[in-house]
Amino acid sequence: MTHITNETQEPLSESRRQFLSRAALAGAGIAMAPLLFAPRAAEAGGLFGAPSASDQKKVGDQAAQQVLQKYHEVFDARARHFNTIGQRLVRALPPSDRSTWDFKFHVLDSNEVNAFALPGGNMFMFTGLYKILSTDDALAAVTGHEMTHVRKQHWAQASAKQQEREAGIGILLGLFHAGRAAQTIAGLANSAIGLKFSRGEEDQADEGGLQNLVAAGYNPEGMIQLFNALAKVSGNGGSIGGDFLSDHPLTSDRIKHAQQRIASMRSTHSFPPLTPLNYSSLRG
Ligand SMILES: [Zn+2]
Repeated sequence: MTHITNETQEPLSESRRQFLSRAALAGAGIAMAPLLFAPRAAEAGGLFGAPSASDQKKVGDQAAQQVLQKYHEVFDARARHFNTIGQRLVRALPPSDRSTWDFKFHVLDSNEVNAFALPGGNMFMFTGLYKILSTDDALAAVTGHEMTHVRKQHWAQASAKQQEREAGIGILLGLFHAGRAAQTIAGLANSAIGLKFSRGEEDQADEGGLQNLVAAGYNPEGMIQLFNALAKVSGNGGSIGGDFLSDHPLTSDRIKHAQQRIASMRSTHSFPPLTPLNYSSLRG
């Protein structure tokens, strides 16, 4: 993987100028630090702001191409079903999120029990996870959770942490060189599949997912069903990949927290019945 040096940088894009400007303002307590010194702060691992949404979408689309080279995408009734649910969640988002992010829904043929999102809005559902879900509401719960990671730009923090761990590998800096750093894009695609979010970010994604579920007219109990389905796989010795559970085991606290949130929403909302999902009828 290539470390990107100053010599290879293109003229500053607007987003990078804004980023550096914020970095300069926030950097090291020097309120009036000249812009010139900002790159040093950024390269030292400081993260003072995320790249623009348009940069994120551009890089995310390129990383999605890498994912689609690695996995086989299915275009049957499963793909249409996932897209229908995803678009219903998108329509229920606040208008600013709808206009900022470009959500695209892909189903990947793989036995991995996994789902993940790329910066900007490409969403990937593995058939291995799909087939253990018994309701549309549970599928919407995974999707709403992953969409929240995109909307809250959690990957930026996670990439920065990974960058620190890997001594400056340019996943984050590479975002400013979209289209030029193929290795960096591949790195982003690979790391997004197993990206490690913090427990706080996971909690925020659960909360955002639940709100999105309810706003879209799904039953938020789908999230509890999702957790139970994952716990069952885990209890049977199966492995769960990626965002869901790889590093943050499904604690009883997490389930309890979701149950508390659902209980408090029940006082202001009435929930529709759960909609059964018959996976085998969607195949082929
Ligand atoms: Zn997550």
